[in-house]
Amino acid sequence: MNPVEIIIKKRDGEEISPSDLNAFISNYIKGNIDSTQMSAFLMAVYFQGMTPSETHQLTDIYINSGSRIEFPQGMPTTDKHSTGGVGDKISLMLAPIVAACGIPVPMISGRGLGHTGGTLDKLESIPGFRTDYSKEEFMDFVNNSGLAIISQSSSLVPADRLIYPLRDTTGTVESLPLITASIMSKKIAEGTRNLVIDLKVGSGAFMKGLQQAKKLGKLLTKTGDSFGQKVKVVYTNMNSPLGFYCGNALEAKEAIDYLKGKAAPDVDIITQTLAREMLLLADTTISDEEADRLVKQVIDDGSALAKMEEMIRQQNGDPKVINDTSLLPQAKYKLPIITKQSGYIKTIDTRQIGYALVSIGAGRQTLNDQLDPAAGAYLPHKIGAKINKNDELGLLLSNDKSSGQKAAERIAAAYHLSDNFVNKEATIISST
Ligand code: URA
Repeated sequence: MNPVEIIIKKRDGEEISPSDLNAFISNYIKGNIDSTQMSAFLMAVYFQGMTPSETHQLTDIYINSGSRIEFPQGMPTTDKHSTGGVGDKISLMLAPIVAACGIPVPMISGRGLGHTGGTLDKLESIPGFRTDYSKEEFMDFVNNSGLAIISQSSSLVPADRLIYPLRDTTGTVESLPLITASIMSKKIAEGTRNLVIDLKVGSGAFMKGLQQAKKLGKLLTKTGDSFGQKVKVVYTNMNSPLGFYCGNALEAKEAIDYLKGKAAPDVDIITQTLAREMLLLADTTISDEEADRLVKQVIDDGSALAKMEEMIRQQNGDPKVINDTSLLPQAKYKLPIITKQSGYIKTIDTRQIGYALVSIGAGRQTLNDQLDPAAGAYLPHKIGAKINKNDELGLLLSNDKSSGQKAAERIAAAYHLSDNFVNKEATIISST
């Protein structure tokens, strides 16, 4: 196999044979193909796409690059994965809620990608929290506590572990086959029987429009189906940053606060909807109403919060953060984000907000970037909100004043106001 021939084939829009695709990916994992060639290949896939059969093949190669976990027959393992957004901390509270309802949640998750944040980075902002566990440790956690959230590793989807950060730093994220292989390989390898996809649509998502999002939804469902996994897709609005806070430690705090009853309305709707869908997939005998009641009950009686504490303890994190969120990393500077206009928020360039946050260390610009877990922003206003000139749109939290100030200006410029009344947007767009 000559890697250059494969890159040229894909560059010219040809289909790659299963054996060539397998050889290319396996040789990259072994270090025989370097990241310049893999980057060129990813860019070729970005522009030329892949056939459904190539996408299935790529997913299969990713899965078989490591081991595939199998939980005992009859165990209703259920997970959720988001296609990525700004302020998307839903997994942090959702996994404990569903586990507290008695449904096991084995979750292999991801880091920040492009302008979006990642569940692993958010969890690792909790002092001591680890996500690098072996397959055996992961299975033990799920068997003992009912949940675990870990990363890909050298034994679990190593292909995604190596290619994911390369996509992040080469502008090759928004490709339907690459997203599908990345998500579905993790979800099939982790041994979940049921999967809810939170497919984010809008200015802060990888899918800006519903048409493209639906294409991705179909591809994810079809791929899950071909591996015997039940998939439900919920399309959710990503035109405004999600919740009150964006940034790793800030979102960990928001997730803890959520389970204590302090909920941003959009976060609440998405969390409760996804939790209900997960319960309905796991147990086909319960009604929508029973699922909703159970979800509310575990939040109200504190058992979801206790489950979150159990997960933090089992994954080496400091469980004291549950009662004292000031133990999470704190930024030195709180800088106001000021609007110079009055009016109703008409549109938000949420992707620009994501990039502004990346610029202060909430995400990565190059492969070796170190994150600043305290960096982020408080951004409570959504499309439709009324804002007055010189009002605070929010706060920028940074450990570096000068880059923080620039990021605050960039975020302010991402809000476009109108003199005319603007309707609020629906949080849930549709589901299939
Ligand atoms: N989440 C993933 O795990 N992979 C992607 O490509 C996008 C979102």
